Amino acid sequence: MALRQVAIYGKGGIGKSTTTQNLTAGLSELGKKIMVVGCDPKADSTRLLLNGLAQKTVLDTLREEGDDIELTDIMKIGFNGIRCVESGGPEPGVGCAGRGIITSITMLENLGAYTDDLDYVFYDVLGDVVCGGFAMPIREGKAKEIYIVASGEMMALYAANNICKGIKKYALKGGVRLGGIICNSRNVDREIELLRAFAKELGSQLIYFVPRNNVVQRAEIRKKTVIDYDPKNSQAGEYRNLARAIEENQMFVIPKPMTQERLEEILVEYGLMDELKDNYQI
Ligand code: ADP
Ligand code: MG
Repeated sequence: MALRQVAIYGKGGIGKSTTTQNLTAGLSELGKKIMVVGCDPKADSTRLLLNGLAQKTVLDTLREEGDDIELTDIMKIGFNGIRCVESGGPEPGVGCAGRGIITSITMLENLGAYTDDLDYVFYDVLGDVVCGGFAMPIREGKAKEIYIVASGEMMALYAANNICKGIKKYALKGGVRLGGIICNSRNVDREIELLRAFAKELGSQLIYFVPRNNVVQRAEIRKKTVIDYDPKNSQAGEYRNLARAIEENQMFVIPKPMTQERLEEILVEYGLMDELKDNYQI
C-alpha cells in the first residue's frame, strides 16, 4: 500500500489534536505504521501519544543545536510505535506562524523520516483559513488527503467552509482532495443531520460522528488517548470506528465551498440560528 499523507484541519479548539491522536492510536491497533506531525505553534499535537513527554519542537531544536541535528532529536516514539514530531512556531506575534511547518517537513525529508514502511503521515494543522505556511502540507503536494474537524456550532462551520475555499484552490492545481468532515460533537440539537447536510452541500460526506464524552478529559489529565487510558470505554470504540472509516474511505472530492448566504440558510433550516435571528436581524 502506498503511503497516505493526511492533513487534519479545523477551527482552533474544535478537537483536531485529540481526534488525530485517538484515531491514529486506533489505526496503530490495526497494525498501521504512522507518523504524526504537529503543525501548530502550541505544540500539543502528540502529547497524548507520548504520555506528556516534553517534546522539543523542530524549531526549538534548530535554534538551540544549529543545523547539525539528528532524527532522534526531533522524532520521538509514542503509543504503539507511532512516530511523533512537533514543528513548533515562533514566539507569538513574531514572524510567520506557519514557518515551522515548512522547516520541519524539509528537515524530516532530509533526515530520512519518510521511510517505506510507513502507512500514514498525519499533519495536525492549526487554522481557520488555509494560507501561508499552514497550507504547506497540501500546497507542496505532501498531503493529498484532507479531513476537516467541525461541529454543529456556527463558527466551526464557517471555518470549515473557509478551509474548503483554500483546499479548492490547491486541489485545482494539484492532487489534494477532501476525504470528508469529521463531526466532533458539541451536543448541538440535530447536529448529525446538520453536519450531513453541510458535508453534502460541499459535495463531500460526513465520514464520522464522534460523540462528546468526558472520558476524553479524564484521559487527557493522564496524558493519554482514550484508547490508551480506557481501551474498553465506548469512546475508544468510537475512535476505532473512525480509524476504520478513514482506512476504508473511497470518497475523495474537490470541495464546493458555499456562499455565506447558503451556509446561513442551512443553519436556519436546522434550527441552529433560531435564537440568533433577532440578534443578527436575518
Ligand atoms: P484543537 O487541536 O482543535 O485546538 P483539541 O484537540 O486540543 O483542539 O481539543 C480541545 C479540547 O476539547 C481538549 O481539551 C479536549 O479535552 C476536548 N475535546 C476534544 N474532543 C472531545 C470529545 N469528543 N469529547 C469531550 N471533549 C473533547
Ligand atoms: Mg491542536
